[in-house]
Amino acid sequence: YHAKRSGRGQVMVYTREMEEAARRLTHIEQALRRAVSTGEVEPHFQPIVDLRTRRIIGFETLARWTDPDLGHVSPAIFIPIAEERGIIGPLSQLVLRKAAEAARAWPDDLFLSFNLSPSQLVDQNTGHHILAMLERTGFNPRRLEVEITESGLMSDSASVAKIIDELRRHGIRIALDDFGTGQSSLSRLREFPFDKLKIDRAFVSSMLKDRPSQHIIRAILSMCDGLGIHVVAEGIEEEEQAECLLEFGCQAGQGFLFGKPVDATSTLALLRGLMRNIPQSAAI
Ligand code: C2E
Ligand code: MG
Ligand code: MG
Ligand code: MG
Repeated sequence: YHAKRSGRGQVMVYTREMEEAARRLTHIEQALRRAVSTGEVEPHFQPIVDLRTRRIIGFETLARWTDPDLGHVSPAIFIPIAEERGIIGPLSQLVLRKAAEAARAWPDDLFLSFNLSPSQLVDQNTGHHILAMLERTGFNPRRLEVEITESGLMSDSASVAKIIDELRRHGIRIALDDFGTGQSSLSRLREFPFDKLKIDRAFVSSMLKDRPSQHIIRAILSMCDGLGIHVVAEGIEEEEQAECLLEFGCQAGQGFLFGKPVDATSTLALLRGLMRNIPQSAAI
């Protein structure tokens, strides 16, 4: 054991396990830096569908990384590391560039949705970086939706509002992701001009056997109807969930029932299979 004085004068005890964990984090960090600089993080795309017609209306971009040594690393692991170690900016730009390039080949009524991390919402360069990348790739900002979580709204409201306003001025829509699980505060819905709200998977996965979840979903739908906010239900895995959500008035859904996230090539193949009028020349 080593003992070390931390800034607040408390004595921290580092065990061997903690050292092991710290070494592992640093190893992941270094491998991730390398992958970002060589462009090895890839966007996958998961369809978002109209629950009534079951047609695809857009795709959510989800980052995927496979390291030669570490194998596949979940974004639930590497995104927080990227945030803490200052890699989220370049990682995000890489994924956005590849996603926008891929989505240019899709029918242009489909939107592309993209996740932003909380730390990106306090960086006043974020808006400029996103807009510059869209310009560079020739992707119409009106087709982009940016997903932010409730934890991203906990920080300085004024600076977050500035970024949101800048994006919206250029036609980018803002979605509130994972709604209902974080530090939910309904006042956020009054403070920020959201275009869309995504009901967290936790409510959807429990809705068929759990009355309270149903009531919460119906309340969210009714509230969003009044506020003029579109709603997407996340994590739909069963047909009955989709039917129940539609009956409650939910317009859109996403989940393994409709499709898992797949890479750009498979996404384009899926779209070509569905809509035979996409020219083959639109290859990426
Ligand atoms: P999220 O934005 O809420 O994305 C939805 C997550 O739920 C994805 O996990 C997706 O694969 C998973 N999912 C979708 N449908 C189902 C379903 O029916 N059942 C189940 N069990 N899971 C489903 P994934 O890809 O592991 O991403 C985890 C989180 O990592 C995302 O949550 C998002 O917060 C973050 N993330 C992923 N890519 C990026 C990125 O490029 N930038 C940032 N900042 N965050 C990202
Ligand atoms: Mg999301
Ligand atoms: Mg989500
Ligand atoms: Mg989530």
